Amino acid sequence: MNVVIVGAGTFGASLAWWLTRAGEHVTLVDQFEPGDRRASSGGETRLIRCSHGVDADYTTMARRARTLWRELQSEAREELLVECGVVWFAHGEDGWEAASERTMAAQGIPCERIDVDEAARLFPSFRGDDLEYALLEPEAGVLRAQRAVRALAAQAAAHGARIVRGRARPEGAAAVLHDGTRLEADTVVWACGAWLAVLFGDLVSLAVTRQELLFLDGGPAWQAPGVPGWVDYDRAMYGTADIDALGMKAAYDAEGMPLDPDAELTARATTEPEVRAYMRDRFPALEHAPLLEARACRYELSPDSHFIAAPHPEHQGVWLVGGGSGHGFKHGPAMAERLAAALSAGAPMPARFALGDRPLARSLRTAGSGVAELRSG
Ligand SMILES: Cc1cc2nc3c(=O)[nH]c(=O)nc-3n(C[C@H](O)[C@H](O)[C@H](O)COP(=O)(O)OP(=O)(O)OC[C@H]3O[C@@H](n4cnc5c(N)ncnc54)[C@H](O)[C@@H]3O)c2cc1C
Repeated sequence: MNVVIVGAGTFGASLAWWLTRAGEHVTLVDQFEPGDRRASSGGETRLIRCSHGVDADYTTMARRARTLWRELQSEAREELLVECGVVWFAHGEDGWEAASERTMAAQGIPCERIDVDEAARLFPSFRGDDLEYALLEPEAGVLRAQRAVRALAAQAAAHGARIVRGRARPEGAAAVLHDGTRLEADTVVWACGAWLAVLFGDLVSLAVTRQELLFLDGGPAWQAPGVPGWVDYDRAMYGTADIDALGMKAAYDAEGMPLDPDAELTARATTEPEVRAYMRDRFPALEHAPLLEARACRYELSPDSHFIAAPHPEHQGVWLVGGGSGHGFKHGPAMAERLAAALSAGAPMPARFALGDRPLARSLRTAGSGVAELRSG
């Protein structure tokens, strides 16, 4: 099978890696170098966790992805997964965390309910008087995302993929590069992240938004792997310990302002008040920690936060893949495995990955429902 993949983010580069390992002929096209910061996959770090509330399918897929990321890191001889654990802060007995715990337990995925005092011992400074308990996923952690995407592309190339730098547009079933080169194949996959909304706006429903990450200087006490990643789903906050001297990462995960995919990503700390207020409540020692950096990046949100992976309704062999919706990174290689089965053997993809409009639904990213949208920044 000859496959052209446009987009070397986690979805496209993972698919290139997977298919070339299976002996398929792949051309991987991107307008930037793999891992470029303008791509959603281009951040230094992304959380990997299996908790997905009641959703058994994403839970299984995240666990499978962990295995495949570990295979990639062995192939690439690089530490791409920092297995520092992820702690979820539960505000009620019967919320997202309890549902995640049940779903993971049913699949034999390690997770442990810990009381607030035990949670406090995992962080250099901690306040949990508003919490019922915490859920620890000891085998979750943080992916070095940018390096992982580069490793996927490099390993795909090592297995024979042709890597092409250029901006492509669809023309019938083909992909046409900016210089007029026409790429035709048995299968053409458009895995274009936020740009899917521009290229196929009539087929996919995607909101592109500006999101922020803040990096605080907490000093050596906040370094991973000694300190886990964390998520406060009901308060839409998440973060990681200090990895690779970037600082302690904290992000307010409410939906940001709409953004053109080609717009400049300006570094402004518009979410600093929310993050500082959260630090005061949860990690008091960090309330006034120096801000090392504010980073802007973009989400490509489907209405129900489910991914997109479906054939084009008019052009045979053309597929659209994306809709990572703020939680797609970790799933890259596991999605690739499923997609490869769909492309080569016609295995069905879940109906919820279909094209078209969808009802608004609860978030699968690290922001629970009922979180106000950020429309001021
Ligand atoms: C701030 C932030 C935090 C996040 N945190 C997490 C997390 O903790 N855990 C997690 O699992 N996920 C997380 N996500 C989500 C995750 O990063 C994304 O869902 C995922 O990276 C999307 O990957 P993608 O391959 O669809 O898109 P992208 O990574 O954007 O890749 C698409 C690629 O297509 C290329 N392209 C587009 N159009 C064209 C064209 N016409 N021609 C050629 N090339 C083209 C682009 O240059 C780009 O490289 C986060 C996202 C952000 C922004």
